[in-house]
Amino acid sequence: MGLMELSEHLELGGNMIRNLEEFPGLNCTINTTEQCNLRCRYCYEVSKRSRNIDFDLCKRFIDMVTGPQDQFTPMMRKLASEGMIFDFIGGDSLMDPALLDRIALYITYRMKSVGHPARDRWRMSISTNGTLFGNPEVRQFCERWKDLLSVGVSIDGCPEIHDRYRVFPNGEGSMERIRQWLPWYREVFPIQSRSTKSTCSKASIPYLYESLVYMHETLGFDWINQNFIMEDTGCTDEDYTLLDEQMGKCVRYVLDHRNEMYWGMIDRLYLQRRNPDDPIPDIGRCGSGCMPCLSLDGLIYPCFRWLPISQPGGVDPKIAISGDVRTGRWFPGAMDLILEKSKRSECTKDPKCLKCEYEPCCPFCIGGCYAEHGDFIRTTHICEITKIQARWAEHYWREYESLENAG
Ligand code: SF4
Ligand code: SF4
Ligand code: SF4
Repeated sequence: MGLMELSEHLELGGNMIRNLEEFPGLNCTINTTEQCNLRCRYCYEVSKRSRNIDFDLCKRFIDMVTGPQDQFTPMMRKLASEGMIFDFIGGDSLMDPALLDRIALYITYRMKSVGHPARDRWRMSISTNGTLFGNPEVRQFCERWKDLLSVGVSIDGCPEIHDRYRVFPNGEGSMERIRQWLPWYREVFPIQSRSTKSTCSKASIPYLYESLVYMHETLGFDWINQNFIMEDTGCTDEDYTLLDEQMGKCVRYVLDHRNEMYWGMIDRLYLQRRNPDDPIPDIGRCGSGCMPCLSLDGLIYPCFRWLPISQPGGVDPKIAISGDVRTGRWFPGAMDLILEKSKRSECTKDPKCLKCEYEPCCPFCIGGCYAEHGDFIRTTHICEITKIQARWAEHYWREYESLENAG
């Protein structure tokens, strides 16, 4: 989950409330651990080895990203002047709160001691499975840093679906544990604890409506960012028909609750279209290439999706390695290459995509594409789902206009 600016978001947008905004700046990720207490069935961190990062490597990384910028790409320099975001990922990074505390102290010291331009504009961010707040050290860490920290909890939907995938090693679902600590989470992070990131797959489709209602009414989330995973989950025509029905029910629900919630599935982004005869634009879709990510072995990758744990087929180091904290060297050529290759014009190869009006709102993750194809070729598994979302987004915003005008 991205870091969210916590001010000014209680304001209502008049229709569906606005999504929480990302805190602006250079996003620097540290893969602090491969450990996780869950065994989610779809976890793409396929080769987890239960180890933590060495603190000295973290220090070196923080020194590099807050140090001289002569080897930064122009985009990295621009972002760093706006702010700095230190994102901790795992496994689940809350597995080792003492390490996070040391890192947070070092960032504080470093930003001040170098007089970094963003010394008053930096934040930390963690996305967690929400089951580790029972550990008093985790709570202590969160309470200590809450003013500079964003903690997002990932939920997959109603218990029927969440507990099928987000499970402990003994196979038990994790929803009950999340609910147990929800009151504490709400007290410490009153705004961000009302937002959740939720992953959908083929199996979630029959529960889409039930999940939306459960997350809003039972769990009290108002900003619900649901996304379908982009890998092939084997959806059939029957699944798409069912998705269409479920989307219809969800859209009616969101229309009825339009002044109190946000639902990412029909964000205005899904209204974007293009003329199928025009060339695909020469711009990227994501931050890969300007989101340096430190791996446990001291190498810097273009974003977390290029970490070896997420690329089971392996990646040519010339493509994926953007720096090395052991030598203090950046390899800006690698960052530039990824930025170039991930442009929509570069990686869109399928003829049906080249002529598709929905292309601007069709998501892809270039790291995931590379993991699948061993090349920069856009995946298309999400094709029908995107079109269904786009059509329901049109319906939602049209209905909204008429409701507002009638009111
Ligand atoms: S919580 Fe995240 S890291 Fe842990 S098993 Fe689930 S998906 Fe993987
Ligand atoms: S995958 Fe489908 S929706 Fe996406 S750009 Fe290609 S044709 Fe369009
Ligand atoms: S490659 Fe994927 S994970 Fe990395 S920034 Fe792009 S969309 Fe995000």
